[in-house]
Formats: sequence, C-alpha cells, structure tokens
Amino acid sequence: MSSGIVFDIKEFAVHDGPGIRIAVDLKGCPLRCAWCHNSEGQSAAPQVMHSPAGWRVAGSSYSAEGLAALLNRQGAILRANEGGVTFTGGEPLQQAGFVAEVIDRLDGLHVLLDTSGHGRYAKIDYRRICNGGPITLELSDTVFRNPESIHQAALLVRAFAQLGGQQFQLNSLSLETLLDARAHPERHKNLIVRVWGWSGYFCELTPEYQDHIIARHMYQL
Ligand code: SF4
Repeated sequence: MSSGIVFDIKEFAVHDGPGIRIAVDLKGCPLRCAWCHNSEGQSAAPQVMHSPAGWRVAGSSYSAEGLAALLNRQGAILRANEGGVTFTGGEPLQQAGFVAEVIDRLDGLHVLLDTSGHGRYAKIDYRRICNGGPITLELSDTVFRNPESIHQAALLVRAFAQLGGQQFQLNSLSLETLLDARAHPERHKNLIVRVWGWSGYFCELTPEYQDHIIARHMYQL
C-alpha cells in the first residue's frame, strides 16, 4: 500500500467539476508556472507557509487506504449532489501510483483529474476518469513539414493510445503567423490560441499574454 503527501482536502468544492465535490490537493509540481494558483503545491515535501494570519504546515502524509476511506465516508452526499472527487494540486501525476491506488479504492465515485500530464501518465486507469484524462499538446507547425517528424508525431499519438489515454488534442501553430499577428492584428482576427486551461483570440490577448504564447513557440523541431 502506498502513501502520498496532500496539502489540502477541500470539502464542498463547487469550482472543480460538476456537482458538489471534494478536491484533493497533492504536493509536488516541477513546472513552476509564474501564474501558479497553488504555489504551496509546487514543493513535493511538506513545508511551513507564512501569511499575515500566522503560519501553517502545508502537507500531510496519507495512506491510500486512509484517504480513500475518508473520501468514501462522504460518498452518499457526493452522489446525491451529482459530484465526486477531483484530484488536483500541485500535479497529481507526480504521485501517480498513490492517486491510482486511491481511485481503485473509491466506491464508484465520479473522479476528475486536474493535470498538466507532467508525470507518470500511464499509471492511472483512465476508464475511471470522467472525460478519459484529455491531454492537449501544442506543436510548432515545423513538426509537420517533413516526413520524419510527422512520423514521430504519429508514434506519439499511437503510444498515447497504447498507454490507455483516451482523448488527445494536438494543436499546431506557426511562429511566423504569431509574429505577423502581433505586428498586423487586422490580418489575423480569427486566430485562436490555447493559453493554458482556456483558448482565446490571439489579437484580443494583452501584449504580455501574446509574448508568452510566442515564447512557447520559439522551440521548434
Ligand atoms: S502546473 Fe499548476 S500547480 Fe504546477 S506550477 Fe503550474 S499552475 Fe502551479
């Protein structure tokens, strides 16, 4: 039986999926996004957090059995309110073995996984996850300009399916198009880009967001 580090368990969560849910925040995320909404989730270890209200320790150890029992105790309320459990963080796949074991022990509860995919993706049984654990991947259009890299992209899609992944959204954009849209927005009014958890019209984004999207596309194969 595995154990994991959780920094928060939010009951009556109404912004983490349908219905009334319990959101389980797991420690550990290597991505270090500047806009991180849960910075105490970045470190994998428990840590002391200071605020004007005082200090607290973020991060407690749970066994998979203990956490699942705690969640199952609320099962009737969650089911009656068309909700369930959302694993978030931090990056839940940094503790994928633990999360998989907790999910296995849940009594038929609706499960969501809030993930960037940065971790041991294949550890989870996605038949148990609402929407099948969709992954959105953005590749430069240079990937699709020669047969060898097209073949590599095809292998990536196949490996994803073989690992049990069920939804894969592959987006492609050209750096030249983005730079031209920055300089001449009137030519690219319909250009839609993925920002992070949402998409938007590139020309309606603030210059800071546009620069961020452009910087992501500087890495070309
Ligand atoms: S992926 Fe999420 S948890 Fe990780 S650093 Fe970025 S915003 Fe924070």
